[in-house]
Amino acid sequence: MADYEKPLPRQADPALTQPFWDAAKRHELILPRCTKCSRHFWYPRQACPHCLSQDWEWTPASGKGRLHTFTIVRQPQNPAFNDDVPYAYAVVQLEEGVRMVSNLVDVEVPDGVAIDMPLEVTFDDVTEEWTLPKFRPA
Ligand SMILES: [Zn+2]
Repeated sequence: MADYEKPLPRQADPALTQPFWDAAKRHELILPRCTKCSRHFWYPRQACPHCLSQDWEWTPASGKGRLHTFTIVRQPQNPAFNDDVPYAYAVVQLEEGVRMVSNLVDVEVPDGVAIDMPLEVTFDDVTEEWTLPKFRPA
């Protein structure tokens, strides 16, 4: 069987998003926070989606949240993930009020996965260059 490489993040705008990936590499979760209205937002973008201010900064996040919704992947679109199935593809509601797409780890799939379960971030060093934030039961 052929070896398939898992795809890595492709940044549309590295100047905008590199701080997030640098923090992930340090096993820190950071989020954009508007300095005008003080609200967090996700994903990173030029202007705050709440008040359109372009003044925002990266701020440390708690890494805590709850499972907003999920699906169990049993048949991956990319064969590089064949050995991972079944796995939980999740939308995580963070304490800061934003939702982040990730995977659940350290959980029995599917029986251990439930809507609203408390989660905490963990970091998967997938290569020397890339670390992906993932979530596990808290
Ligand atoms: Zn704002």
